[in-house]
Amino acid sequence: MNRPFTASDKEEYFSVIPISEWSSQKYSSGQRDPAWGRFSQDRFRVFTARQLESISQIQRLSPEQRFSMKVVSSVLPFRVNHYVISHLIDWDNVPDDPMFQLTFPQPDMLATEHFDRIADLLKRDAPKTELDAAVTEIRDDLNPHPAGQQELNVPKLDGEPVEGMQHKYREIVLFFPSQGQTCHSYCSFCFRWAQFVGDKDLRFASNEAKTLHNYLAVHPRVTDILLTGGDPMVMKTRNLIDYLEPMGEDPRLEHVKNIRIGTKSLTFWPHRYVTDPDADDLLRLLESLVEAGKHVAIMAHFNHWQEMETDIAREAIRRLRDTGAIIRSQSPLLAHINDNPETWARSWRTQVQLGIVPYYMFVERDTGARCYFEVPLAKTWDIYRRAVQKVSGLGRTVRGPSMSTEPGKVEVQGVTEIQGEKVFVLRFIQGRNPDWVQRPFFARFDEKATWLSQLKPAFGKSKFFYEDEYQAMKEGRVAIRSV
Ligand code: SF4
Repeated sequence: MNRPFTASDKEEYFSVIPISEWSSQKYSSGQRDPAWGRFSQDRFRVFTARQLESISQIQRLSPEQRFSMKVVSSVLPFRVNHYVISHLIDWDNVPDDPMFQLTFPQPDMLATEHFDRIADLLKRDAPKTELDAAVTEIRDDLNPHPAGQQELNVPKLDGEPVEGMQHKYREIVLFFPSQGQTCHSYCSFCFRWAQFVGDKDLRFASNEAKTLHNYLAVHPRVTDILLTGGDPMVMKTRNLIDYLEPMGEDPRLEHVKNIRIGTKSLTFWPHRYVTDPDADDLLRLLESLVEAGKHVAIMAHFNHWQEMETDIAREAIRRLRDTGAIIRSQSPLLAHINDNPETWARSWRTQVQLGIVPYYMFVERDTGARCYFEVPLAKTWDIYRRAVQKVSGLGRTVRGPSMSTEPGKVEVQGVTEIQGEKVFVLRFIQGRNPDWVQRPFFARFDEKATWLSQLKPAFGKSKFFYEDEYQAMKEGRVAIRSV
């Protein structure tokens, strides 16, 4: 499915992210890559919930389907751009098309009682205050901050909490630049959905580059920084320079060896690396970090092979790789989008062919529209196993099904039988205490369980090995040893 990259859209579009004419002297190569001319510049145009009805392709759907979208997008964030609409979604395959499922609201994304409550309010044109109150209550029910993000992960500098940062594991700091707290489109499964719904209490972000650098300077055990969001690649290159340039120049940050950038821009807006006015400047910035000896890792979110099929996506991948950056891929396993081994195997094969390293398969997290996307751990592991069997060794670099839980990142290593008991074999890939990492532990097999919190220890034990220590960390009786 290789759709041509020619914008022929006739809709009335809404520009949300203005394209800057800014260009840095320092990073401007002055010379365009010869391939650039093959792709014409395109203005970024985006639709939000208020503009749903103005998407012409939506008119193919029934009034009931369109009303359902309105209900769901009252609670969960919705945003999609014209590239996704025109080049990624196969409208002849709607509603089953995985890119449609990835970006457009579906009725079952809300529990029936939540859906009915909002539908009723919309039908009787209830006052805004009443609707807002209902929406807030429902959002609170959807676990907006999974894995103790607000309580346990916020680091301190000089005794003060540092906004927009998480330091959960010893080696890596996550930074949420305030200009990067949106995305070129929103994924309907997003576990960071709470950041996009306009409630300031649900956001955490920082615009303080200096604080980031000062924090890193006094934490010499940190080797990795992950810029995340939202999507940091929605930022202009000039903003990225503020955060990233000192990583290659400031001797206090010499110990920060690996710069990771989490992004879905290769799917949602590959023009960021090809035709945007500051695309070349961005590539030069990444190149300069590589030249300074840093490992630049693009942590690319790919949920389906369809995302990598357009010419411009492939050109963006080629140009990014030319900087010396390494692209790694990650995705949760999601019902309605990629819950079969063939899709994963084809994705990994495509990635290997394009020079991308398959890295993580995640378990859908316990937040937001989880009821719609979650897949039992047993089935998830089975899909992983069967997908891995279909690819060569180069595609088997992917870690399989991992849950980002409060105590750490837990991988389902397999299902087996030990002394007559059927069990899940689990291990920490990352832990609040680094000593937990790589220790196998066992849970009773449960065909329906979808998350660690639903599992019980195997062999008659009452607790998993880490539970007492983790409880003590939460109560402040022992330090979080990862930091
Ligand atoms: S790109 Fe990432 S942060 Fe943005 S909506 Fe998708 S999953 Fe969420």
